[in-house]
Amino acid sequence: MSDDATSKLIKSVTPQPAFKIFSTYPQPWWQDLYLTSGRSVTDLPIRQTYYWTDNQGNSIKDGSAMLMASYDDGNNPDFWSGYRDWEGAKFKLMGSQKNEIKWTDNAPQWSDYEPKQAQMKLEMTRQLAELHGVSEERIQPKSICYKNWAEDPFGGGWNFWNIGVKSPEVMKAIIKPHSNVPLYICGDAYSNWQGWVEGALETANMVLNKFTKDCQ
Ligand SMILES: Cc1cc2nc3c(=O)[nH]c(=O)nc-3n(C[C@H](O)[C@H](O)[C@H](O)COP(=O)(O)OP(=O)(O)OC[C@H]3O[C@@H](n4cnc5c(N)ncnc54)[C@H](O)[C@@H]3O)c2cc1C
Repeated sequence: MSDDATSKLIKSVTPQPAFKIFSTYPQPWWQDLYLTSGRSVTDLPIRQTYYWTDNQGNSIKDGSAMLMASYDDGNNPDFWSGYRDWEGAKFKLMGSQKNEIKWTDNAPQWSDYEPKQAQMKLEMTRQLAELHGVSEERIQPKSICYKNWAEDPFGGGWNFWNIGVKSPEVMKAIIKPHSNVPLYICGDAYSNWQGWVEGALETANMVLNKFTKDCQ
């Protein structure tokens, strides 16, 4: 298979943007509204707000608390693009240098993802206040951080097959695009379960089967 053919296989899916904002508070103000866990959905660009529980799944009744204030996709990540730090919009993972990805063992920190400008925090708070029918003063966050999966190196949160693509054929061919090059490709992007861990496992299994056959 030629490089052009491999490139065509890789481009048979389209990355979909996905975006999250997390926010922390001195108190779980949503408890006053009888909201304990789960999520609220809105047509505002924040789209979904999840009321975070503790690590046992119990609702947080008092003290420091956190929201996944926004979990959005489709056209909504574009809305937030205007509020992020373009100056610092390089890939921010694991101590990366300017325009350079540097992989280290250090786990990414909350502060790596905090917006430098106040505007995102203000706009997020405005939308949360509208969604919950409360004043912005009452729900001021301590801190926020955000993640945009459209940025490098991800390109998107998940991928969808392009219209007209014969996905079973691509799935089979992309596992090992060149028969004489020991390069194998797996991931939920080229699976029957795009956007789900099941797709990653399905294609990892396909790679293992192919690799085992190649070794025989
Ligand atoms: C916002 C969001 C929500 C999701 N929600 C769900 C859900 O609710 N349920 C579900 O089943 N699935 C969900 N998914 C999909 C799920 O996360 C993926 O299917 C799964 O993580 C794929 O696993 P993976 O091991 O193939 O790849 P990944 O988990 O992406 O792992 C790849 C790893 O390789 C590393 N890496 C990349 N490039 C390099 C390099 N050059 N050198 C060294 N390391 C590198 C990355 O840092 C990463 O750790 C979600 C995805 C997103 C983005």
